[in-house]
Amino acid sequence: MSISAKSLIRRFEEYCPLWLAEEGDPVGLHIGTLNREIQRVMMTLDVRPEVVEEAIAKKVDLIIAKHPPIFRPIARLTEDDLQTKMYIDLLRNNISVYAAHTNMDIIEDGLNDWFCEMLDVEVDSYLKKTHTVHYKKLVVYVPVEHSAEMRQALGDAGAGEQGNYHHTSYSLIGTGRFTPNEEASPAIGSANKAEQVQEARIEVLFAETIQDQLLAAMFEVHPYEEPAFDILPLDNPPQIYGIGRVGNLVNPMPIEQFAQKVKETFRIDGLRLIEATEPKKMIQRVAICGGSGGNFYPDALRANADVYITGDVYYHTAHDMQTNGLTVIDPGHNIEIVCIPKFVEKMEQWKLEEGWDLEIIPSETNTNPFQYR
Ligand SMILES: [Zn+2]
Repeated sequence: MSISAKSLIRRFEEYCPLWLAEEGDPVGLHIGTLNREIQRVMMTLDVRPEVVEEAIAKKVDLIIAKHPPIFRPIARLTEDDLQTKMYIDLLRNNISVYAAHTNMDIIEDGLNDWFCEMLDVEVDSYLKKTHTVHYKKLVVYVPVEHSAEMRQALGDAGAGEQGNYHHTSYSLIGTGRFTPNEEASPAIGSANKAEQVQEARIEVLFAETIQDQLLAAMFEVHPYEEPAFDILPLDNPPQIYGIGRVGNLVNPMPIEQFAQKVKETFRIDGLRLIEATEPKKMIQRVAICGGSGGNFYPDALRANADVYITGDVYYHTAHDMQTNGLTVIDPGHNIEIVCIPKFVEKMEQWKLEEGWDLEIIPSETNTNPFQYR
């Protein structure tokens, strides 16, 4: 028993779309193919030789990773180099690898939201806006007896999603008129004879990012040789996406205490603190960006953050942060491992909803290269 890798990834991308990734970020399928059946999927932060060994031992078919394993182009593919041997091992064992990287930092209910949830930070804004998605309207005219199928297809393709509602639409019944010529193959009527058909005019709202897939879905189920439809631009407020989050601590506290809270929350042995304000100041406004968010520190300053949490802070960037009066906690990049249980939980939910026969495995390999002494 198995499911298709494509159906899993389709569901995954409804939640974490590729177009949300930063430009040049090599997200998506990385190694192997999605044109296959899978029985076991493994979620991991990093793909390292030890993780590949684990995947082989657990007979995994597909790895979903937060960090793209081929981040920098490789010049050779040999077994002498352990890094590239890992790619060969994956191919030999027919293990496909898919990566969701910066798109996971941006999506709603994604990595940065989870960090805030864990730290009791109530999110009110993004650290940095990344995407502005405008809405459009699709109006399609279809014979009344095809309208239910059309509404279903448009909803399945992602149209009509508004807040907690999906498959929203509006329709009216009217009269469609046409006269086929001799070259036509009309679904209804015959050459040179004026025809009248009772048609539904179906209206759906959609995000411009799904236009191509939406039109494809419409053409797929429309019975006419020449479907009649309109795409209308709208002035509705756009959907904004951003990387990182800013919010207020439910219980403000001094930096020393907050640093302890960060350590306990992420179960880490140590962190780096760049202290730029006096120790008694109560920390309330928190900006956070998982991974290496050092470059976003001016955004944390603009957001009036009392503290900025991010990983991989460079020595000289730390000087700049200090000079600008920004207190920073660098808990390391590895705190992103919280994505493993969160994603396993999500996939278990999808598995239930879709009735998938799929084993979902969280990687148990520790991929943190750093230790504290
Ligand atoms: Zn990362």
